Amino acid sequence: MLDFEDGIHWIGTDVFVDSRRGRERGIVSHAHSDHVGRHRRWIASPATAALCAKRWGAMDLEVHAFHQPWTEEGATVTLLPAGHILGSSMVLVERGGTRVLYSGDFRLKSSATAERCVPVAADVLVMECTFGDPRFRFPDRLEVLDQLCDFVEQTLASETVPILYAYALGKAQEIAGLLEARGVPVWLHERAWDLLGVYREFGHAFAGCRRYELEAPINGVLILPPGSATRPLVRSIRRRRTAAITGWALDRWRLPACDAAFPISDHADFDELLGAGDEGEAAEDLHAPRTRPVRGAAAAARSRCRAGGVRSAGQPVLIRRHGRTRASTRAGVRSGISSGAGDAARATSDSRRGG
Ligand SMILES: [Zn+2]
Repeated sequence: MLDFEDGIHWIGTDVFVDSRRGRERGIVSHAHSDHVGRHRRWIASPATAALCAKRWGAMDLEVHAFHQPWTEEGATVTLLPAGHILGSSMVLVERGGTRVLYSGDFRLKSSATAERCVPVAADVLVMECTFGDPRFRFPDRLEVLDQLCDFVEQTLASETVPILYAYALGKAQEIAGLLEARGVPVWLHERAWDLLGVYREFGHAFAGCRRYELEAPINGVLILPPGSATRPLVRSIRRRRTAAITGWALDRWRLPACDAAFPISDHADFDELLGAGDEGEAAEDLHAPRTRPVRGAAAAARSRCRAGGVRSAGQPVLIRRHGRTRASTRAGVRSGISSGAGDAARATSDSRRGG
């Protein structure tokens, strides 16, 4: 039924989702680099299509609104909001009487800049589990935001620039929106700034944000993408305090050198993945009626499912983590991807794409 050699492929069709290889037609769940390929025709939600055009030069765009099914090679395909970043989609494919839901990167709780996730029931769920480990339970976002604002205020009070490391697409705009709503002036690095046009097109004003110009004075927060490319810029600001904004803040050894870290993520945390958190009922809806997480990072999830968090028997749940897929080989599901990558390699990959 499914093949995971490159993204997700419905065997016997030309339906590919999040393929990294260029396809004749490729469905793209969202515009993060680990989910896109150089397709001839890009199929996506309106905002994802616009972001792919801006960021990846996608030209031949086939746009489908959320909740509007279309037919693809004998399958009915529907995009649903995933709550991860602007335009991010879950992909529901119905074929031969079986509903397969691919979650893509997702987050169930509300966001300042992403459309609210709408879970649906399916027979098979392919779920991204970036934080599929029980140590990743994120504290209340508003409380963390209070702490972040304290960090910003104290830093500014000492005439020092607060620099926040946040991935250029999604996290930077989310943090900018959250801080702007609290009256904090925000300067954005050009890589995040250049995407604001798309956000504005989809109703996010960012009226209080400015583009950072090298060596220009700042009396607010500077948001930069993490990584080596911005290090010279950081060093050019002599009085600075730095903070990483990422779910990996709960795993400090994964972080770049910085003065503080705040666990604000655009991914579901462990409890959300299992439907055990505050919005557990919604997460339960997301799960297939008969599910069984398997392997690796899902070991804890599996024991939790046995304890009753998720009903477990029958159809497999496929745990896609960090671009690799950990899958049951039963029930006609085939995984062509090994699961042998070490945590260090995954940490490197994930720190590049935010979290
Ligand atoms: Zn993503």
